[in-house]
Amino acid sequence: MHNSSDIHRGGCLCANVRYVVAAPPLRSAICHCRTCRKAASSPTLPFVTFPAAAFSFERGTPQQFASSADVVRTFCGDCGSPLTYANRADLETIDVMTVSLDNPEDYPPEDHVWVSDKLEWDVIGDQLPSYPKGRTD
Ligand SMILES: [Zn+2]
Ligand SMILES: [Zn+2]
Repeated sequence: MHNSSDIHRGGCLCANVRYVVAAPPLRSAICHCRTCRKAASSPTLPFVTFPAAAFSFERGTPQQFASSADVVRTFCGDCGSPLTYANRADLETIDVMTVSLDNPEDYPPEDHVWVSDKLEWDVIGDQLPSYPKGRTD
């Protein structure tokens, strides 16, 4: 990844919620699943995975939404930007919405996941690996 430094910052559109991650990213991918699409109101949701222990909000407090029993998503209650995804099945990591990072160009995706859910008109235009479900399913 282009930015393998130890400090990464991002936040929502209105900047009332800001976060910092003090660890290198673990992976970057694009999710096509229906739930991510709805959460983002977008055909895909790119995300970067970081060690959860290195993540903290440094300004504001986001709203939370449990999109399934084990999943908590956060978003800005003022402007609505989706920010993070955390799954109780993997407490070691947190996914940050790639485009909420201050420099999203630094985290190019490595693969596509949940392509089995993909919208037909959303044509993948790169040669990255793609997986019908999660990368490890
Ligand atoms: Zn906001
Ligand atoms: Zn998803």
